[in-house]
Amino acid sequence: MGAPGRPRPLEAWEGDAPTAEPSDEEVVPSFEEMLAAPRRDASADSIEAVLFDLDNTLVDFLHVKRTASDACARAMVAAGAEFGEPADKVGQMLFHHYLEHGIESDDAFQTFLRRFQRNRLSYTQHQIDKVLAAGINAYLRTKDLLLSPYPGVHATLVALVRRGYRLGVVTDAPRLKAWQRLHAVGIADFFDVVVTRTDTGVEKPEGRAFLVALDALGLRPWQAAMVGDWAERDIAGGNRLGLYTVLAEYGHASREGLPPAPVPAGVTADESVPNVRIDRVAALLDLFHARDGRGDEAAEPNRDGS
Ligand SMILES: [Mg+2]
Repeated sequence: MGAPGRPRPLEAWEGDAPTAEPSDEEVVPSFEEMLAAPRRDASADSIEAVLFDLDNTLVDFLHVKRTASDACARAMVAAGAEFGEPADKVGQMLFHHYLEHGIESDDAFQTFLRRFQRNRLSYTQHQIDKVLAAGINAYLRTKDLLLSPYPGVHATLVALVRRGYRLGVVTDAPRLKAWQRLHAVGIADFFDVVVTRTDTGVEKPEGRAFLVALDALGLRPWQAAMVGDWAERDIAGGNRLGLYTVLAEYGHASREGLPPAPVPAGVTADESVPNVRIDRVAALLDLFHARDGRGDEAAEPNRDGS
């Protein structure tokens, strides 16, 4: 609302554009200023944007990787590779190799073969490529078939957008792979901003990863929520800056039976405690409704029945 007695500029009456005068308060500070600023309690502020981690928060990436590793191992064994183990054991070995070697690595199959393939010295490059081709094809087929968003992701994103929240992704995945996954599961167009490791050169919990997204949205940390499955990266990083942090516990199911993920240097248990935990992505809707009172207008009839 404009100040009483002051004529409002004509353009202020058109649409829903904010009419407040710009002030120093509105200027988004620099990364350094935001990093140095005292933290505010995000639980007291209204959320304007929701930032999501990608893997194991929006898509069940580890499950896909594990199943695709099994398919790859079976195909490599069928194509003549010898590992001295049954194919299902080789699949587990390949998945663990991925975890050790880098889950996003592009040469995991080659390094795996060099490490575990028996009689590798007697194999020609021709034989190695035959095995590799079979493995890569089986891997890609399985990945394409299985990669999907968690149940409720699509409907939740639709509802959040309808309620006026702006959406972002903050991921440690490389940019091209992040976009491939977002497109593959049909949610690429929901996001105002997608910030990847390629864009920032850092991984969560480094503040820069979150600040680039906030900067693009023109928001302060306490105006955004961060939703992620990895407490020491997604939650600790969000807490350090003062975002409202939501731990996506449903993303932990794919880690069952795996060694605990390494804790990034300098991260404490205290700063990895989220503001709230959710067991399914759709729980965000009730959570934010309770905080901000924003409902799904289209789905909720007016009180007069219209
Ligand atoms: Mg994750």
